[in-house]
Amino acid sequence: MRRNGVVVRVPGKVNLQLSVGPLEVDGYHEVTTVFQAIAVYDDVTVRFAESGTGISISVTGPTASGVPADATNLAYRAAQLMIDLHDLDSDIAIHIKKEIPVAGGMAGGSADAAAVIVAFDALYELGLSRDGMEKIGAQLGSDVPFAITGQIAIGRGHGDHLTPVLARGNYNWVLAMASQGLSTQSVYNECDRLRTGLEIARPQVSDQILQALRAGDAIRVGKSLSNDLQAAACSLRPALRLVLDVGIDYGALGAIVSGSGPTVAFLVQDEERALDLTVALSASGVVAGVIRATGPTHGARVIETL
Ligand code: ATP
Repeated sequence: MRRNGVVVRVPGKVNLQLSVGPLEVDGYHEVTTVFQAIAVYDDVTVRFAESGTGISISVTGPTASGVPADATNLAYRAAQLMIDLHDLDSDIAIHIKKEIPVAGGMAGGSADAAAVIVAFDALYELGLSRDGMEKIGAQLGSDVPFAITGQIAIGRGHGDHLTPVLARGNYNWVLAMASQGLSTQSVYNECDRLRTGLEIARPQVSDQILQALRAGDAIRVGKSLSNDLQAAACSLRPALRLVLDVGIDYGALGAIVSGSGPTVAFLVQDEERALDLTVALSASGVVAGVIRATGPTHGARVIETL
C-alpha cells in the first residue's frame, strides 16, 4: 500500500571550526569546517496532494516568522529538484514545523531541503544511498549534505565534501539568538573587506579540535573553537561582542559566532551551567532569545510514516 506521507526530523548545526580561504575568481571561498549537528530540529512533513495542486508549502512553529512559503523556500526547490531528477508526481504538500532559528548561521533552510530529499526517497521508495542524497543536496547549497549526514563531520571545498570525524562525548550548548538575521553573503563580503591587502592561506582543519573531539574533552574543544567569519559578523553587528562577553564572564568553555551568525553558540560544562547561562543571557537584555541543545545528533531521518 502506498504511503500518504512521511515526517522527517532534521537538525541544525554549529561550526566548531570555520576556516575561510581567499576570495576566488568565481566569487566563492574555499572553506574547511568542522560541523556538529545539534538537537534543535525542524520536522518536515511531505504528503501526496490532490492532483493538479502542484507543490505547496506551509510553515508553523516558534521560528516560522519570515520564512517564505513559496517557490523561494529551499524545501520547495528540493522538492522540484527531486521531481525533475526522478520524473515523479508533482502534487506534493510540504509542511515545515520550524524550531531552528532563521538566518542565524544554523543552516535551517539547508536542513529543510535535506529533509525533503530524505522524505522523497522514503515516500517514493527510491532506494537512494546516503551518498547519492548528499550529492543531490549539494546542488541546492553547501550545507545541505551535512544536514543529511548529521553527527560530526569535516566539510571541505564549499563545505559540502564531507568526512566523518571520530569523536566521543556529548556537548552542551547554549544558543543566543538575535532579533534580526544576517545575510551570509554580506558577512562574506565584510570578511573580504576586512582582509584587504592581507595574504590569506588555504583553509586547513585544526588538529587541535580533532584531537579534543577524539578525546571527548569538552574543555579542549571549548578552547579550540574558531570561526574566520566571526570578526566580520561582529563588525556588521557590534552587539555580538557584548553577547560573547556575557558567556565568557559566566564561565562558558568556549564562545563562538555560529557560521555567518548572528546566533552565538556557547559550549558549557553541563546542563546546570547551561541553565545558569540561559538565565544570565535572558536577563542581560542583549539577546532576543536563548535555547539549549546538546550535540552531536543524527542527520535527517524519517520519524513517522502517515
Ligand atoms: P547558513 O548557516 O547556511 O548560512 P542560515 O541559518 O544563516 O544559513 P537560513 O535559516 O537557512 O539561514 O535562512 C536564510 C534565508 O533563507 C532566510 O532569511 C529565508 O528568507 C530563506 N529561506 C528559504 N527557505 C528557508 C527555510 N526552509 N527555512 C528558513 N529560511 C529559508
